[in-house]
Amino acid sequence: MSHPSPLPSPNPAPPISILMYHQVGNFPAPASHRACYCRQSRFRAQMAWLRYAGFRVISLRQAYAALFGAGTVPARSVVLSFDDGYASFADNAYPILREFGYPAVVFAVSGLLGQPARFLADGGVRAPLMSAATLRELASDQIEIGSHTVNHRRLTRLPPEARRAEIGDSKKALEDLLGRAVDFFCYPSGDYDAIVRDEVAAAGYQAALTCSRGAANTAPNAFEIPRKAISWGDNLAGFFWKLLVKNRRKDRYG
Ligand SMILES: [Zn+2]
Repeated sequence: MSHPSPLPSPNPAPPISILMYHQVGNFPAPASHRACYCRQSRFRAQMAWLRYAGFRVISLRQAYAALFGAGTVPARSVVLSFDDGYASFADNAYPILREFGYPAVVFAVSGLLGQPARFLADGGVRAPLMSAATLRELASDQIEIGSHTVNHRRLTRLPPEARRAEIGDSKKALEDLLGRAVDFFCYPSGDYDAIVRDEVAAAGYQAALTCSRGAANTAPNAFEIPRKAISWGDNLAGFFWKLLVKNRRKDRYG
């Protein structure tokens, strides 16, 4: 960001890696958008490896409390985040998370529940999003539901009124549906600027996740928290490398 942020910066805490996943399942090797797919067998191996290597999978709420509140986290803490709310999360990722007892956060597109992910290049024909009923069933202290706007549009390209509706209406719609607070936001396509960021804060969210890379601790404030994208090509060595080494911040926007 080019101008100084009025938002508070994070507390000192052990490095927290927030991993970014999209679809988990059994796909042919993707030709593009490789960071949007993770083979189910590989996902399972990654989850097993986290336990084996002594990582603690914590909720985004716990990470937020350690970074911006009074909470603490153990060394080697990891948060699992899933963008877009694909049906493949419920079918393929959730059973594995349950098996390991891991919490996660899912960022849902409130206006497209139960529909194809039309914002994808191919119209999302093979990527249905979870229905409202499924989302309601999954929402719990273990599975946090966050907002990923109403329609998954690039927020910096929208006129102010439409932009604020995407940010605010999605929060309200998901809160009405789930009967729970929706405190976390994730920018579609990682697209944001200082105006968007400040509108997300003004809408009443506690924090927002970006597609910038790095440990969560390198966030300049709670509304620009970086993550680590887990890609189709990441074998366990690559996964390990991302977790332990790639903590330095690399901005994607701003
Ligand atoms: Zn998305």
